[in-house]
Amino acid sequence: MGNGWRWEKMGICAGGLMLAGLVFSWCGAATSFGAPPKQAASNLTQYSVDPYYTMFTDVEMAQVKEAAARMAAMGMIYTQQCEPFSARPGSYRWPFYLYAKHEEYTGAPGVPGGSAGVFMPSAGKLMADASYGDEVWHIVQHEGFHQFAFSMIARNLPVWLNEGLAEYFGESLWTGAGMVTGNIPSHRLVRIKELIAKDDLVAFDKMIAMQQTEWNGALKIKNYDQAFFMVTFLLQGGGQTIRDHFVAYVKDLSHGKAPKAAWTGQFGPDTDGFLKQFTTWVNGLTDETSKPLRTRAAFETLMSYLARAHCEKQDFDSIEDFFKAGEDGTVKVKEDLLWYLPPSLLTKRVKEARELKDWSLEKAKDGTPKLTLTLSDGTVYTGTVGASPDSRRPPATKVTVETPKAPKAATTKPGDAASKP
Ligand SMILES: [Zn+2]
Repeated sequence: MGNGWRWEKMGICAGGLMLAGLVFSWCGAATSFGAPPKQAASNLTQYSVDPYYTMFTDVEMAQVKEAAARMAAMGMIYTQQCEPFSARPGSYRWPFYLYAKHEEYTGAPGVPGGSAGVFMPSAGKLMADASYGDEVWHIVQHEGFHQFAFSMIARNLPVWLNEGLAEYFGESLWTGAGMVTGNIPSHRLVRIKELIAKDDLVAFDKMIAMQQTEWNGALKIKNYDQAFFMVTFLLQGGGQTIRDHFVAYVKDLSHGKAPKAAWTGQFGPDTDGFLKQFTTWVNGLTDETSKPLRTRAAFETLMSYLARAHCEKQDFDSIEDFFKAGEDGTVKVKEDLLWYLPPSLLTKRVKEARELKDWSLEKAKDGTPKLTLTLSDGTVYTGTVGASPDSRRPPATKVTVETPKAPKAATTKPGDAASKP
């Protein structure tokens, strides 16, 4: 470890991901935006999203339930994936404000113009504009990470890291019970490859030392793209050794180490070496790279609904019956805040699932549904339903992935949340 570590010694392993949907979000500095906002308008209703959030909102009840399900999954994924590098353990309950109307959101004190979501460090609040539509959730996942990092990692993370991790979580795929991280949308891949081809990346030594004011002074999609790919490379594209050093780097920052010393301490001074490995990795990515993650997200989502339907005494005779019910929006899910999932999520994932072969749906010995997907390359996904973590919540589901001999199974990494109780 330490300064002797060299980039060129590391092997590249392109394990990866992808999907779509880019929204530009306004990202707040870790300093005050001015006077702390006053308490939100009284027409907001407060909901507990245990154990992570308190939500204040005036959206319709179906949206409240969807928001609660998404926030529960978000809080869990941040916590699970960042636990290795958080030096500030403890329990927090973060405030989240979701406004039904655009004017209400933009009229809230301190909200920056032109944004659809924001984390306001001065008040600790995460705020979002529900009138923005489904795209708002990328922003909430992004800004929610800033809120999480502010209390759980460090108040002054280097901006490229804070934004890169925020985008990493922003691109995560919601599965109902959890999220699948590491997704690389194809449109972003096209853009970063163009930047590399044009030799237009920000120099790495400049990027890792960039100040928040400089970043905010010239908000550029390309900087978000570069930060996103750097983080994705360090977390999963570069292999286990690089990941270990990255975790140690963030941990050092969380303990208050100066950014440059923290970086050099883990990766050494050779930023050219990093650039070389990084570009090799990016250029090796294709649309296919994220396919296993998208498959996993689809599979885990189907399991989330199957488990809930089973508890409502709705079982399916065949995979086709289940797919049709998913498309028709007739899969039963308890209306309770801790159980609810929107029909639209299943409809979307069934469409993706139909592109995959071969599915089978059977009953396990205890009568619970057992889902299997056997891909043409011999990879087998198996999903089963377990016990509920507590009597108030839906049963946990377990997903295992077996790949034929050679490559390591892309199974349970920290944060493959849906399969965990
Ligand atoms: Zn941001």
